[in-house]
Amino acid sequence: MRVIVVGAGIIGLSTAWYLRRLGAEVTIIDPFPALGASHAAAGMIAPAAEVVWGQTPLYPLMQASAQMYPEFAAEVASAAEAGLGFSDVGTLVCAGDRADLQALRELREAQSQSGFDTELITGSAARAVEPSLSPAVAGAVHISGDRSIDPRRVCAALLSVLSTGSGSLIRQRAAGLVRVGEATVGVEINDGRRLEADQVILCAGSTNNTIHGAPQLPLREVWGDVLRLRAPAEATPLLTRTIRGLVNGRSVYLVPRPDGEIVLGASSREDGRSGTPGGAIHRLLADGQRLVPGVLDAEITDITTRARPGSPDDLPMIGRIDSGCIVSTGYFRHGILLAPFGGRLGAELALGTVSDWPPDGSLESVSPHRFTTETTAGPNHATAYSTRSIS
Ligand SMILES: Cc1cc2nc3c(=O)[nH]c(=O)nc-3n(C[C@H](O)[C@H](O)[C@H](O)COP(=O)(O)OP(=O)(O)OC[C@H]3O[C@@H](n4cnc5c(N)ncnc54)[C@H](O)[C@@H]3O)c2cc1C
Repeated sequence: MRVIVVGAGIIGLSTAWYLRRLGAEVTIIDPFPALGASHAAAGMIAPAAEVVWGQTPLYPLMQASAQMYPEFAAEVASAAEAGLGFSDVGTLVCAGDRADLQALRELREAQSQSGFDTELITGSAARAVEPSLSPAVAGAVHISGDRSIDPRRVCAALLSVLSTGSGSLIRQRAAGLVRVGEATVGVEINDGRRLEADQVILCAGSTNNTIHGAPQLPLREVWGDVLRLRAPAEATPLLTRTIRGLVNGRSVYLVPRPDGEIVLGASSREDGRSGTPGGAIHRLLADGQRLVPGVLDAEITDITTRARPGSPDDLPMIGRIDSGCIVSTGYFRHGILLAPFGGRLGAELALGTVSDWPPDGSLESVSPHRFTTETTAGPNHATAYSTRSIS
């Protein structure tokens, strides 16, 4: 089967990875592969630390994907013969002061109710395992099961494996879907060529709606600013595990890579500004140094701003749009964590092989049709979306 994947972020690439494994002939289209939100992401694979009240349908997806990660990462690393910066040392969620400790207790309660195994420890116990933490840290939740990976390395590895062979990666923008009647039969790219396919999978992140003929989904751009740092040689490693924290109620994280890089993030803005506001960087450094004072001695090696592709309920939108088209976007702040789950689901939906694999209820909770008013269609059936098509 010939499948076109539009978009080479972590979702398009992981979808193409599973498609290839299932025997499909895959073409990926992207003018700027791996330079969207996936280029900014810190790479936390952290279902427990991501528990937020009111997002219950997300937990089974996050847990299913987290369980798939070690095998997914090992196979991609082996195929690409490249390290992916995978770390399974765990996470400490820290309280910047005693006021933040109360919020941390509530978070831990939510984690327990959701079935995650976490432990509340004192500030001094946290410093015993991470000596760079500030003496002001009032307590921490220790999460041993959370992991991290370097999304830039994952995308580079997937690209190197998937772009071998002529025509497998086309560095062009997809201008629109080619449709015959109600069915998608291909993609028109910017140079005017029309590429035919049995199935098209739209993985264009937050810009899905700019593709002519694509379903007009309720996507929102949630901008995030993030810094990459390198501690001086004498202070390396500054950290051994991911540090997340609450500082005056604001969340901040530091994700150390095995090679010594530290990712400090991230802001969350819906102000439509694609540039990096100085105030966002100032706040990240100020909040980061409240938890780990040594960040102010580190060198800033990179500042990146990208839009997270958000949905109204913060769950992704993965499902069939018509007999020739699947959409897979809206991964918001969990696209790296959900990549194995979303990639496999998108691939299996396209090839018609979804059987009893996804966790109960997950097809319904990610259906792109859940925001439409039509009630006759079941989960992941095509519904009437407003589309702008090239036919
Ligand atoms: C600061 C920050 C930190 C984050 N940290 C984490 C984290 O720690 N853990 C986690 O799980 N998630 C994290 N996320 C979220 C995660 O990055 C996203 O959910 C994920 O990258 C979305 O992947 P995607 O492939 O859908 O989108 P993208 O990575 O944006 O990829 C979309 C691709 O589509 C291409 N494209 C767009 N339009 C077209 C077109 N018309 N034709 C062809 N190609 C097109 C783009 O060029 C791009 O390459 C973070 C996000 C940000 C911004």
